Amino acid sequence: MVEITIRKRPREEELQAQRKFFRKTRKGRVIKVLRERYLRDDIGCGVSQCSLCAALPSPGQAPALPLSGSPHTQFPTGHHLLPDTNAFLHQMDLFEHPAFSASLIVLQTVMEEVRHRSLPLFNRLRNLVRNGADQEGQGCWVFWNEFRDETAVAREEGEGPNDLNDRAIRKAAAWYSTHVAQALSSRARPPPAVVLMTDDAANRAQAENASIPSLSVRQYVAGLAHAAELGDVLSVHGPADDSAAKGAERGGRPALYPEYWPAATVEAGVKSGKLFQGFFNPSQYNYLEGYVNSQAMGRPILVIGRTDLNRAVAGDIVAVELYPESEWKAPGDEVVDQDVALANDDADDSEGEDASAAAETERRLAQREAADARDVARRNPLERHPTGRVVGVVKRNWRAYVCHLDAASLSSSARTSQAQQTVFATPVAANLPRIRLRTRQAPALVDQKILVSLDRWDITSRYPEGHFVRALGRVESKEAEQESLLLEYEVPYRPFGRAILDCLPGEGEAWIVPPKTAGSVVWRDREDLRELIICSIDPPNCQDIDDALHARPLPNGNIEAGVHIADVSHFVLPDNAMDTEAAARGTTVYLVDKRIDMLPSLLGTNLCSLRPYVERLAFSVIWELTPDAKIVNVRFTKSVIASKAAFTYKDAQTRKDDLKQKDPLTESIRLLNSLAQKLRAGRMAAGALNLASPEVRIQMESPESSDPVDVEQKEQLETNSLVEEFMLLANISVAAKIQETFPQTAVLRRHMPPPPSNFEMLQDVLMKRKGMSLDISSSGSLAASLDKCVDPAEPAFNILVRIMATRCMRPAEYFCAGSVSRETFGHYGLASPIYTHFTSPIRRYADVLVHRQLAAAIDYTPLHASLHSRQHVERVLNVVNRRHRMAQMASRASIEFYVALSLKSRSERASGGVREKAFIIRAFRNGVAVFVSKLGLEGLVTFKREINFDPEAYSVKVPSPSGGEVALSVFEEVEVEITVEKDVNTQRGKVKMVVVHPIDSRSL
Ligand SMILES: [Zn+2]
Repeated sequence: MVEITIRKRPREEELQAQRKFFRKTRKGRVIKVLRERYLRDDIGCGVSQCSLCAALPSPGQAPALPLSGSPHTQFPTGHHLLPDTNAFLHQMDLFEHPAFSASLIVLQTVMEEVRHRSLPLFNRLRNLVRNGADQEGQGCWVFWNEFRDETAVAREEGEGPNDLNDRAIRKAAAWYSTHVAQALSSRARPPPAVVLMTDDAANRAQAENASIPSLSVRQYVAGLAHAAELGDVLSVHGPADDSAAKGAERGGRPALYPEYWPAATVEAGVKSGKLFQGFFNPSQYNYLEGYVNSQAMGRPILVIGRTDLNRAVAGDIVAVELYPESEWKAPGDEVVDQDVALANDDADDSEGEDASAAAETERRLAQREAADARDVARRNPLERHPTGRVVGVVKRNWRAYVCHLDAASLSSSARTSQAQQTVFATPVAANLPRIRLRTRQAPALVDQKILVSLDRWDITSRYPEGHFVRALGRVESKEAEQESLLLEYEVPYRPFGRAILDCLPGEGEAWIVPPKTAGSVVWRDREDLRELIICSIDPPNCQDIDDALHARPLPNGNIEAGVHIADVSHFVLPDNAMDTEAAARGTTVYLVDKRIDMLPSLLGTNLCSLRPYVERLAFSVIWELTPDAKIVNVRFTKSVIASKAAFTYKDAQTRKDDLKQKDPLTESIRLLNSLAQKLRAGRMAAGALNLASPEVRIQMESPESSDPVDVEQKEQLETNSLVEEFMLLANISVAAKIQETFPQTAVLRRHMPPPPSNFEMLQDVLMKRKGMSLDISSSGSLAASLDKCVDPAEPAFNILVRIMATRCMRPAEYFCAGSVSRETFGHYGLASPIYTHFTSPIRRYADVLVHRQLAAAIDYTPLHASLHSRQHVERVLNVVNRRHRMAQMASRASIEFYVALSLKSRSERASGGVREKAFIIRAFRNGVAVFVSKLGLEGLVTFKREINFDPEAYSVKVPSPSGGEVALSVFEEVEVEITVEKDVNTQRGKVKMVVVHPIDSRSL
């Protein structure tokens, strides 16, 4: 942003305007704030070579607007564009579009209003101003209209803030017009126009009265050189709430959804406990079902059917009214795929919507639901969920979504034409509604991944409306797929900017630990551990080595063991640009073929990476342990280490197992391993869970190629467990230390016990199908009962049960020690009363905070003020928790993409589908869900024919070709054939599965 220095002038008459407003303090007192403004006549207009402003002192930035404005068909003499606040709030995609160029005036009034209304949009506007200054042929100038005496306005009696701002904007436009004309008065040509851009008709009428040219956004875009392209990115804003859509604007079209309750009623309802507020999560099996996770309710509220879902979109915060308990239902037992159900809908058809295919499907489902409701009563009542309907949206969390254009929705006559048409965009995330969108570029976008913003969802429209933002590239090209994934999981992936890189040590790659001298700042209070036999053990090709270890026998028969962690907080100082960016990123994100770093790679893969043979700064945790792995004492110290080796898990394992090797390094690994085994045994005895997640590894042909050859399951070696045990021990020791020192703000991590209701279905199906029981009364009893879920005939069965049990768990989370009660600190899965993350500061931001707190706890440095503030710590951890969830989902999606690619190449080689063993994990009225553990892949097998479905027994019975019936039941192993098919309409690659044994489901 442009910065100006305001020189205060002491003379009294200069004080011309006061801004007066009232503010409520946090304690509820109302105070009057007087803001004095010193008005000046030396604020530049920003037009380059303006003869009137030439003499002004340099404002720190060169004037950016071209003298004769920019071209527009309606203004042959050129123009400068002056948009109002709403133009920026609604149409930022337009201003950011590469084809958009105009001589752009951004008023201070507008800037401030945007900042109050939306911080993300304000940041985008600020970037726009910054970039505008660098671009050829267009300019962008912030005009400080409230400081310039001719354009400042004072509030009039009875004038509301909106009217005041509109008047300020018109006044600035009028001033600019006169100013520009005067500046160019010596020229023969008429001066460029100054055009007000506003979608507010009343404002345009007033502008017209004052002879200020003004246009709506659409009118304006129509006169630009790239009108067709730019018209596409315009958002369809308009009646934002239902009440505005009433009457005339609805054009007599029937309402398809109930109107939302007024905001005040919703707020009061939530407060009084009559309504429940929470995030909306659509079901993954049925697009007409979803859940609302309300803390007040304690368990998810089920919402069934289009009307009750009432336009809720994944991620929205909605308010739900609960139905009486007698009307509670079980989730539907039919798979309903939006792509199939709605395939024949016409995007342009707004009149006959009730006769559409979608409506037909929905009617059929509603009838079935009624039947289901009766069924539920006699069925297992445990399956019933609190059920409700959405009556209001507290906050929309809409963003731009990665989509494919649905080719079937292109009108046949317009498949090649440039005419504007309404089409469907199908989001890649299956749980989002299709979006209706107007575009002139449809034919060109058919095989592209595109980014689409949601704008509104009226009660008369079955689908939400949105606008095109930009194309990401061809479907299935690696670049487009990768960027899509990052956008879809909101991973910040821009390269680190100048300000951030400036925070790195000036020596760059040449940085070394300085020599140990008496006055050295780096060596102050650091232990010299360079002689210790320390090594690191990591996966192959690990570049960001966070941790290293050592162990050695002590003369008293005990053992000294140490964990040494990269001293990231030595380089990343609180509150500088690099720290702020790392806090916003929260974590490094690992995709199959790309790593998006939390910290610049100079730190991550070099200065902080505990590479072998070089000296590195570390933060060490050193224990004295008995040979039985009981802790005698622990200390924490900043240190300098020199790792003696970087092993892979496999190398370390081989070396440990080779009894001929007797060198100190190998002995140290053996010592660590024997301690780790005892630590692990101790944890398991305390009730730690050994859960499973389907971890697969993508095998690439070579590091350079990105064509996967095969998928293999991750192998677990003893040495994996060795590292894991010591990291857990370090995290637990550090957690106790910082919690004791900073009970209010210590950064900790917890895993809440799962609510018993999460396990109801798994317990029931285990009992009915296998006669096995799960005791969930404590993590210890759950661990013990999981160990007993063994089927000798199916060795993979136990892993399957562990995976399913893991899905019943709550996710672990970071929290601030002072924000929750002491009894809820525990980590359920690890059976530890306290826990934190200390061991990966290169790739997790929570660890950076923990390092700072530990450094303060041992009096190495004072604690930064922000880490004394509970509010600050909570705010940072909220972001970090969210980033972690998204990062996990992004990695999983990246693996799934490559699994699909490898399946595709395998089936091409085998000319047919790939056959694998799979477990049935759910049964539906029209199919089964299966899990292929070898690929970590879940799939749905659907049947077209009516089949004999027994929800009680978690089983479907299908007719066998040899007569009689074959039962497909949960936990049974089947063989499936997997193919990757391209959806003809969306071009999206879809994994399809069919059962081939014991029966061929294609015949069903
Ligand atoms: Zn000027």
